[in-house]
Parts: sequence; C-alpha cells; structure tokens
Amino acid sequence: MTTPAKLSAWIPEAVLIISLVLTVGITYYVRSSADMKDQLRFDDAIARTQLNVINKIDIYLSLLKSTAAMFTTYDVTHDEFHDFVERVDLGESYIGMQGLGYSQKIDSQDKESALDSIRSQKLDDFSINPDYPRAEYHTIVYLEPEDKRNKVALGFDMFTDPVRRTAMEKARDAGKPAASGKVTLVQEVDSQKQAGFLIYVPVYASVALPATVEERRKMLKGFVYSPFRTDDLLTRIIANESDHGLYYDIYDGLSVNSKSRIYSSRPSNHEAPLNSDSRFRRTKTMNIAGRPWTMVFTTSNSFDTNSERGFIPYILSGGITISFILFTIIRAQQQARAAAERSAAERKRLEKQKDEFIGIASHELKTPLTSIKAYYQVLFKRFVNRKDTETTKLLSKTNTQIDKLTNLISDLLDVTKIEAGKLQFHKVNFDMHDLIEEIIEDFQAINGRHSIVYDNGANDPIPAELIADRERIGQVITNFISNAIKYSPHNDKIIVSLTQDGTSIVVSVKDYGLGIPKDKQTKVFDRFFRVGGPKKETYPGLGLGLYISADIIKRHGGKIWVKSTEGKGSVFSFKIPRGK
Ligand code: ADP
Repeated sequence: MTTPAKLSAWIPEAVLIISLVLTVGITYYVRSSADMKDQLRFDDAIARTQLNVINKIDIYLSLLKSTAAMFTTYDVTHDEFHDFVERVDLGESYIGMQGLGYSQKIDSQDKESALDSIRSQKLDDFSINPDYPRAEYHTIVYLEPEDKRNKVALGFDMFTDPVRRTAMEKARDAGKPAASGKVTLVQEVDSQKQAGFLIYVPVYASVALPATVEERRKMLKGFVYSPFRTDDLLTRIIANESDHGLYYDIYDGLSVNSKSRIYSSRPSNHEAPLNSDSRFRRTKTMNIAGRPWTMVFTTSNSFDTNSERGFIPYILSGGITISFILFTIIRAQQQARAAAERSAAERKRLEKQKDEFIGIASHELKTPLTSIKAYYQVLFKRFVNRKDTETTKLLSKTNTQIDKLTNLISDLLDVTKIEAGKLQFHKVNFDMHDLIEEIIEDFQAINGRHSIVYDNGANDPIPAELIADRERIGQVITNFISNAIKYSPHNDKIIVSLTQDGTSIVVSVKDYGLGIPKDKQTKVFDRFFRVGGPKKETYPGLGLGLYISADIIKRHGGKIWVKSTEGKGSVFSFKIPRGK
C-alpha cells in the first residue's frame, strides 16, 4: 500500500513537467513551422517580383527591337513615326516608358545637310544640343508622344553625357540592346525629379548585323531608344506585391548605396537602412538589358503581423496556465484521496480494536458469570429445601438479572463472531410450530402483562418442517418478541404468525407499540443502531439484537424486514427457505 502511494505522490509534478515540456515543444514546433512558412512566403514573393520585372522589361525590349528593325529597313519620316507610335499606344500597356524615340548619328562633315533634311520635316527650328564641334553627333530627332516633356529632349546629343554614352557604345559594339546606368532624364522638368534610365537598340545601315565591332561602328545609323522613369515603371510592376509586407530597394549596378538607388518601395520618409533589422533580407542581382541591377528585399512589420509567430505568446501562456491548473487539480485530488485513505484506515483500525476489546471483555465476563449461575442454583436448592420463601423470591429476581446479563454477553460474543466470520450453524430438522410455541410459553412464564397470541393458521395448518439452526432461529424469534414487548409499553397485544411463501416459511411478530419512523426503518438492522428519542433511555439495549438476527437470517439464505407506522406499531418478519 505504501509503494503505490509513494509512486503516485510524483504524479502532479510529473504531469506539470510533462505538460510544460509539451508546451515548450509545441511552441518550438509552431515557431519553426511559422519560420519555415515565412521563409517560403518571402522566397515566393521575391521569385514572383523578379519574374514580373523581367517579363515587363522583355515586353519593352520587343517593342524597341521591332522599332529598330523598322528603321533598319527604310528611312522613317517624322509623320510615319508619329503614326506608328500612336498605333502602338504607349499610354496603357507601356506604363513607365516615357517615350519611344530615335537618335540619329551624324558625322561632322554631314552635319549641315543632315540638319537641313531634318528641318524639312516640319522641324524648322531644329538644332543639336549642345552644339560644339566634334567628330560625331548623335541627336534625338524623333521622340513620341510629342508632349511637353519629350519636346524638351529633341535635339539633345546623348553621346555628350558619359552615362548615356557608355550604354550607347555598348549597344553599338555588341549589336544588342543596352540599358544605361542611373540618370536624371532630360524630360524631368518638374521639381519632383525621379530617377531614370534608358535602353538603346542600335540601328545599322545593313539589315544583317555587321560582323565586327569595326564594321558596326562604321555602319551605325543611330539608336532606337526609350527613356524610363523608374518610379512609374517599378511601382506598377511591384504594386501588386507590396501587400505581402515586403520592401524592394533596387540599385543600379552591383554596389548598394543611396546614390545608386533607382527605386524603393518604402514610404518616402522611410530611409532604406543598409543593415536592415528586418527578419528577412535577401539580395539578388538581375540583368536588365545587359546592365546589372541589385535588388534588396526586406520584410516590413506587416510581414511579421501576418506570420503565425503571432500565436506563440498565446500558445506559451495558455500552455503554462493549463499546466498549472492541471497540476493544482491533480494535487488537490491526490491530497483528498490520501486523507480519505488515512481516515478509512484509521476507522478500520479503531473498529478492529473495538471488536477485539468487546471479544476479550465479554469472554472475561462470561466465565465468572457461569460460576455465579452455578452458585445461584446451589443456593436456590438449599433455600427451597429450607422452605425459606422470602429468600427464594429474592434469589429468583437475582436469576432474572443473571439471565439478562448472560444474554447481553452472548449478544456481544455473537457480534464478535459475526465480525470475525466465525458464527457457526448446526443445522437440524425441526418443526417451526413447535419452536414458536416453546418460545411463547417461555415468555408467558416470566411476562405476565403482555398476551402473546400465536396465529398458526389452525384452520389450514401449513407444513412447518425445515432444516436450519434451531437455536439461532429461535434466537431471532425471541429477539422479535422481546423487542415487541419492550417497545409497546402501553399496549399488551402481540401477535406471532406463521405463513408460507412458495417453498419459504414466513414468521412475523406484530405489536401495537411505539413504531419506527420511516427513515429509521432500514437502519434498525445495523450494528449498535437504536432509534433515538426522548424516551430512549427508558428502553435498555445495545442495538445488537436485530443486527445479529439479520446476519442469522441472511446466512440461512433468507430475508428480514420491518413494516412499521410511528405511534401505531410494527411488524418484524423473516422468511427462510425450508432447506433440503
Ligand atoms: P435493542 O433493542 O437492544 O436496542 P435491537 O437491535 O433489537 O436492539 O433493536 C434496534 C432498535 O430498533 C431498537 O433500539 C429500537 O429503537 C428499534 N426497535 C426494534 N424493535 C422495535 C419494535 N418492535 N418497535 C419499535 N422499535 C423497535
């Protein structure tokens, strides 16, 4: 008993530790799965954005290349180009593309004739800007649509600007589209200037691409080109993605610094930190028409808000709370059970002690009482012989008391035997009629006042033979009748009846005495139970008789019960099988 108790003493702590460990485990799991999902979310957005940018640039490149093809095959006039661009409709599908233009290469010796031919196409005041003598001029001759911004650019020699020139030379020598580095476009006439860049596609005097760099330089006619405003361009491409809580910072070239930055998706007051404290940061390099762009992706607060990481504090605090509640409940239950076990054990111990005491005491009392009874019998005979009637009367009274004491002690001994499971029966064949009649006779010999009537069903006598312990059954009937007498002080009629119920015999003792309250009726068969009340002391007894009777009847395979009305009387009955 001590071992499991000691083992279970660990349960609350064990449950606490296990549930805390579980909480930490779950938290850790949720955290790492949230991190994994966030990483995927981040990677996904980056991949999508890169793809969007490249796809969009490809569309622009196709337009530039086909326009260049047109200029290669014939000399496009100003009006034709105007119509062409109008048909292409740069407005909607080419957002960010500031315009589509043609820059013509003019060798210094051809300058005047070239200018004349340009001016003849409704461009009377056309001039090259800046205009200082040099071997080779490049001048923007067409730039559509002809809006306020683009008109400013006409005539400008982009070859005079180092950034543009680098791209132009690269396109010319490679025979491929080339993007410039970061510039401020000539068209930026407003105060709010955006960063920009240009893409050039070379146009040669031959349809086939000249084979060598030398030939390409010689045969260059000009460039089809487009200026781009990066904010207009990239905001459109990236706008759909900014909902995902990412910031995009795009730099021209390979170095990341504020001078090379051409675009930032951050709010304008939000300076891009070079060493961001964002949870995720990734740098990617992209090739935009031969020019490297560095894109830096970082996460914003709204990215973290959408992360499942937000659950962690709740899981952690919830888990800890539940762990402690469990711990408290289990410990309280355990303590309650331990207390109950202790008190049950204590009660058992006391009960056993009491039974032992009763056993020993009654045994010790019985021996001297037997001697007293023997001496009494000798004395009684002597005084009868001497015809001393006065003394014999006194001695008879003494005998009644001795018998009462003997009965009491034998009741106590019986209880001890019942408790120890040692009450034994000697079953014999006997007739219940005879037994009842004998007992009634004995009672009438000593009790004058009550009249005990035996209703033996004389008109239709029932067979009353049975096999049982005659003495013990007699003890039950005696107990019933003596109780009937004891608890009916004001009414002297007692009826004993014998009936049958199938193969069983039923004996009942009816009185017209005090009766028993309803709620006490089943308890009268309990050990030491006595119905309380103001006159309890008037009726001596230990509350053992019915307890012993019930045990005797039950162990004969029978049933014992009472029907009673308080103030009117009681009927105590038992039923036992006749036996084989
Ligand atoms: P005792 O009579 O020695 O107290 P019993 O076990 O014989 O013990 O009876 C238990 C209790 O049942 C009695 O104390 C009494 O209160 C109640 N009782 C028994 N028989 C009767 C009866 N015939 N009428 C009223 N009360 C009874």
